[in-house]
Amino acid sequence: MDVFDRIGADDYEQVVFCHDRGTGLRAIVAVHSTRLGPALGGTRFYPYPSEADGLEDVLRLARGMTYKAAAAGLDLGGGKAVIFGDPRRDKSEALLRAYARHVEALGGRYLTAEDVGTTQADMDIVRRETRFVTGVSRELGGSGDPSDATAYGVLWAMKAVAQRLWGDTSLVGRHVAVAGVGKVGRALVGHLAEERARVTVADVTPVAVEWAVTEVGAEVVAVEKIHAVECDIYSPCALGGVLNTSTIPELRCAAVLGSANNQLADGAASARLLADAGVLYAPDFVVNAGGLINIAEELAPGGYHPDLARAAVRRIFDTLTSVLSAAEQDGVTTAEAADRRAQDRIAALSAVHQIRIPS
Ligand code: NAD
Repeated sequence: MDVFDRIGADDYEQVVFCHDRGTGLRAIVAVHSTRLGPALGGTRFYPYPSEADGLEDVLRLARGMTYKAAAAGLDLGGGKAVIFGDPRRDKSEALLRAYARHVEALGGRYLTAEDVGTTQADMDIVRRETRFVTGVSRELGGSGDPSDATAYGVLWAMKAVAQRLWGDTSLVGRHVAVAGVGKVGRALVGHLAEERARVTVADVTPVAVEWAVTEVGAEVVAVEKIHAVECDIYSPCALGGVLNTSTIPELRCAAVLGSANNQLADGAASARLLADAGVLYAPDFVVNAGGLINIAEELAPGGYHPDLARAAVRRIFDTLTSVLSAAEQDGVTTAEAADRRAQDRIAALSAVHQIRIPS
């Protein structure tokens, strides 16, 4: 692969390969854009089959973070990191600290956080070597695990869709089919129960499903069937790529709205297929920005405040409402409208003249 062609095509600012022989660290940090602020994105620890797979993943994810932060109106850019290896076998304090020193060396251009394969406890270790880490535990002044905030944002996105489709933000009696009852899905199911919505769930892990049945009286279907449940909202909260040429014709919902990243298997083509099927698609990076918005509150001048963070997450209601209106007004898919919102903000703020301020 010609790396410069690849990173040039999507205009990445910087891609850093990190190595430490003593701890076995092999990592890549991708800074896609710092036009709106420091590039924030989690560190994924994953046993990629090849270096090319890891590179492609970090590039794709970093670019996604640029769009997520911009669409949410945050003063943050987009970045991401991957560490090669099996977290259960290869993760150690020494390796995380070696990695953290590379993050520190970037001088704040990249801010890290937890992601698949890393935890809040790992970020507490990273914090010992660098200031440029978010999502550390509350005791260290951080905002903790972002999953609850993500679920809370999904709930408010659902209210925006309810307002649009049914003229009322209430979810009472609405039927929501949730695929994946993990950290986000579980918190979401809890919110939906409080809202007195009807909930159907599916998960590959039996204990996750049992919790939903006993705690909130959810109905259960097989994971291969959840997308085809007749319902008001289908909510993918597990894997990406679930909206594809096989699943879209089988949907029997009014809207798709969930936390999973990269739900559209084939980007613009899948978005068009959904629109043609009369299904309202709420763009994933708008819907699932709650965790990022919550973490961004750590950077507020007064530090992290839970009430202010929750108020900030609730603004997903307004963001999604305006994306849905723009799609209708401009005659484009909702996915296209969300992309345009992000691109317009980056373009507008890039035009701000950088005057010299004496230090
Ligand atoms: P998680 O690993 O805690 O939960 C995922 C759940 O999905 C698990 O219970 C797993 O058993 C289940 N699952 C796996 N394969 C499945 C399948 N084929 N069908 C149904 N269920 C399946 O992850 P999470 O943190 O809850 O994140 C869920 C999704 O939301 C991911 O796509 C993640 O990237 C995205 N997301 C999460 C956050 C966050 O704050 N955690 C933020 C933004 C986006």
